Amino acid sequence: MPLEVSEIVAALEPSATMAMAAKAKALKAAGKTVHDFSLGEPDFNTPEHICQAAIAAMKAGQTHYTPAAGIPELRAAVAKQYEKAHGLTYKPSQVVVSNGAKHSLHNVFTSVINPGDEVIIPAPYWVSYAELVKLCGGRPVIVETTQVSNFKLLPEQLRRALTKQSKMLLLCSPSNPTGTMYTPAELGALADIAIEADLAVLSDEIYERLIYGNHKFASFATVRPGLQERTILVNGVSKTYAMTGWRIGWTLAPEKISQAIADLQSQETSNPSSVSQYAALAAIEGSQDCVAEMLGEFAQRREFVRQRIASLPNVTCPEMAGAFYAFINIQAHLGRSFRGTRVDNSTQWCQTLLEQVSVATVMGSSFGAEGYARISFATSLSILEAGFDAIERFLKSPA
Ligand SMILES: *Cc1c(COP(=O)(O)O)cnc(C)c1O
Repeated sequence: MPLEVSEIVAALEPSATMAMAAKAKALKAAGKTVHDFSLGEPDFNTPEHICQAAIAAMKAGQTHYTPAAGIPELRAAVAKQYEKAHGLTYKPSQVVVSNGAKHSLHNVFTSVINPGDEVIIPAPYWVSYAELVKLCGGRPVIVETTQVSNFKLLPEQLRRALTKQSKMLLLCSPSNPTGTMYTPAELGALADIAIEADLAVLSDEIYERLIYGNHKFASFATVRPGLQERTILVNGVSKTYAMTGWRIGWTLAPEKISQAIADLQSQETSNPSSVSQYAALAAIEGSQDCVAEMLGEFAQRREFVRQRIASLPNVTCPEMAGAFYAFINIQAHLGRSFRGTRVDNSTQWCQTLLEQVSVATVMGSSFGAEGYARISFATSLSILEAGFDAIERFLKSPA
């Protein structure tokens, strides 16, 4: 055949979260009411002042190519924000703006991973990490964490995963899919090993502004002196400002790596959308009241979800410190039947839940954690209420 899919892409797993969301959408299109807890994005619209800034940029003619690494104002604004929020000093030249944080991650792996290099990824992990590493010729090394440690990688687990090929440790805190977050002390213990083993660390901090209760976020680069040299931070506007569709994310990295990422991007995609960059600039430089408002909404939903999960029969869940996910343990409900359908694993559980009571969730297996399901609470309280009523009915349904 003249036209075959390449081996590397044929081996790719399509995004499970997107697949589940598509299934829910298809059911909705067919006229069914679906309680959709599969979403990985805020349900809010982008705040008005950000949209207005984009319109103004368009009208002012900011509709051309920009420098590959992003407009200087945005790179400077991101650097300034890190100084202010975390006391980390980065030059604007160390910031590279890309087409979403997912693209930033791909850029990082392409720029620093050589064939055979190992990237240590704690499970449960965000669905794209391992696939992106593989696309770049690297080897994902998955280390399973447990609910006992709130799904956090323990120092001894990291130590045991080290080999001569270990190149990078990937952390996501607060975590998608578990909603748990490392404390500064926990990050420090991992940092000590990274320093000792000369590992690079990629820290995905996309949920840094969505933190609940008394939990305090620490950027990985702050927990030990000198960490900036071996750390790449990934962040963006998608989750903080409800801007998933605008596609703006960025990396903060040592100068040499940032230059490499910028060069790569100049050949690969040129620049991220000019209009979106001006919108992101307005998001960062404008009033942060919108962030506080959305966080307030998320906090209410989190409390609602926490209470509802606590009253579900034989379901547990770690405390949600950040992000907008609950990662529920459904092990007690596997190996049984629901109205005649036998359910043995998390995929079957999520499918049966969707078929029988129209609640869309994402199976833990797609995050490397069989026996769990992810519930996103980036949806309204009324949908959450109807959905949890349905989950409760489902769990109590006869065999
Ligand atoms: C949503 C998400 C991203 C990607 O965000 P985009 O900027 O929209 O590409 C990256 N990492 C995690 C953990 C996410 O949940």
